[in-house]
Amino acid sequence: MAQQTESTQYVIAPEAPKSLAVAGTDRRFPVARIFCVGRNYADHAIEMGHDPDREEPFFFMKPTSSLVTDGRFPYPSMTADVHHEVEMVVAIGKGGRDIAVADALDHIYGYGVGLDMTRRDLQAVAKKQGRPWETAKAFDASAPCSSLVAASAIGHPDKGAVTLAVDGDIRQQGNLDQMIWKTPEIISYLSGLFELLPGDLIMTGTPAGVAAVSRGQRMEATIEGIGSLTVDVI
Ligand code: MN
Repeated sequence: MAQQTESTQYVIAPEAPKSLAVAGTDRRFPVARIFCVGRNYADHAIEMGHDPDREEPFFFMKPTSSLVTDGRFPYPSMTADVHHEVEMVVAIGKGGRDIAVADALDHIYGYGVGLDMTRRDLQAVAKKQGRPWETAKAFDASAPCSSLVAASAIGHPDKGAVTLAVDGDIRQQGNLDQMIWKTPEIISYLSGLFELLPGDLIMTGTPAGVAAVSRGQRMEATIEGIGSLTVDVI
C-alpha cells in the first residue's frame, strides 16, 4: 500500500482531523476513534432490564464524525426518543496492545465529560432483532464532548460525582466509584481486542437516570474533578 507523504495528491479533499481542546493550552488533542463501554454502572444496567452482576465488558463505537465541540446538539432524524447518557471520557495518549491493568494509567493523556446520545427507540428495535447499534449510537452529533484536562494536571479520578441536569432538573446522579469495570480494567480489556492508538477516546458508561430530551432543552453535565459540559438541543 502506498504511504501518504506530504506530497500525496488526493482525488477529493480529505476531511480535517477531528480534535478536542485541551484546558490550559492552545494545543488540541487529535481524535482517532471513539470506543464506548456498555452497562458499566449497576443501577443503569438494572434500569435497562439487565442483571448488574459483573459480566464481561462489552463495547461499541462511534465515528469521529459524531463529535460535537460547540455545545449544539441537532435533534436527530428518524427518532422520537433521544436519550442523554453522561459519561467520563478517557483520552489515550500512548497506544498499545495487551496492556496490563497495572500499566494502564500510563497510557492515558487526560479526561473529559461526554454525552453518549442514543436513539433509544432504534436501539430497542436493534436489540430485539439482533441487529447492530450504529443507527442508535453512532449517528451524526451523537458524541458531544468537553475540553480535555490532562492527567498531569488532575491525576486519575476514580471517584467523584457524575451529574446530568436538563433545564436545571437533575436527571442522572452517580459517582465514578460505582463503575463496574474501572478505568485500568477497561483499557486492559479493550487493548486485548484492539490495538489502542494514541488519540483514541473511551466513553466509560453512564449511571442511572437516562431519559429523553427535546428541542430547546439544555443539558448540563458535570463530573467532579474533571469538568463540565453544556449542550443545547437545537
Ligand atoms: Mn453509554
